[in-house]
Amino acid sequence: MVIHLKEGLDDKHVASLAEELEALTVRNNGSKLLVTPSSLRHLDPAFEPFVEAHFVCLSDIQLASREYREVKRAVQLDDITIGGGSNTTWMLAGPCSVESEDQISAVAELVSGLGVRIFRAGAFKPRTSPYSFQGMGQKGLELLAQVRERFGLKIITEVKDATHVDAVIEVADIVQIGAKAMYDHGILKRCAKASKPVLIKRGFGSTLQEFVQAAEFVLSGGNENVILCERGIRTFENKTRFTLDLCGVAYLKEYTNLPVVVDPSHAMGFSYGVPDLARAAMAMNVDGLLIETHPNPSQAYSDASQQLNFDQFRSLYQSLDPIANAVGRTLT
Ligand code: PEP
Ligand code: MN
Repeated sequence: MVIHLKEGLDDKHVASLAEELEALTVRNNGSKLLVTPSSLRHLDPAFEPFVEAHFVCLSDIQLASREYREVKRAVQLDDITIGGGSNTTWMLAGPCSVESEDQISAVAELVSGLGVRIFRAGAFKPRTSPYSFQGMGQKGLELLAQVRERFGLKIITEVKDATHVDAVIEVADIVQIGAKAMYDHGILKRCAKASKPVLIKRGFGSTLQEFVQAAEFVLSGGNENVILCERGIRTFENKTRFTLDLCGVAYLKEYTNLPVVVDPSHAMGFSYGVPDLARAAMAMNVDGLLIETHPNPSQAYSDASQQLNFDQFRSLYQSLDPIANAVGRTLT
């Protein structure tokens, strides 16, 4: 149960109510909420004098639930509104990794020339093998900051472990928590204390319940700016890298109040399928698409097989427009 407390209760009083209700206290922009375990279905009338409103939630998806907030949240990034009533699908585009100044500048020039506002690239890469490229690290973050200045793009970049979470929070406009880091409570809790938007990717072995509960860690820690990203789950199928769970996207849209982004690049793992999946996701009215593109995909240091070359990216971007129109959205 999510409980909105009346204004003017002092901290000591809030703490004692929280203790009685076995609730977590959540502080958002000066207001105080209590979130009890979801098993609590009825509020004892004794608490009513202190309660403004209460919302019974069906499971421990609480702050992210539609029972709590009927309307989808808007995540604001200056003039960019992700989710809410914006009816805009934002393209989050860029290479898998920052590899050099020339490489990210070339991609930034392409995407900003098309009107894209949000640039993605990883400086800290969560690789499966220690022998693969691990990312440029701090230097990569500095290059991303330069891209922001030079092209006026917003930057989304990922944090892979707790050693550099502060460095990423400082530079990024949106902090990406990767699929492998979805369960890292150190990262989730640190991002909860930041005010910057956080995009959480679904762990490829995680249920939708577990995925949204990861978001609850950030929301309950005080950061309201959370975006969910479906990026494919592991199934028995091995012809594609993962399986894009569009059923899951429908679920997230119906039952959560968070903006939803779809990442066809990591799901498919091969560039040939990415445009079709992106168009399918666009038709589902998603709030964003995350697409990898590289000046020379076959030479990319990471995720070479799935990155679109510039011609492929341009033609995908153009092909999305009529679909966006058909579902009453704008693509930017
Ligand atoms: C990425 O976005 O480049 C990435 C590593 O994605 P994921 O965490 O979904 O594997
Ligand atoms: Mn990648």
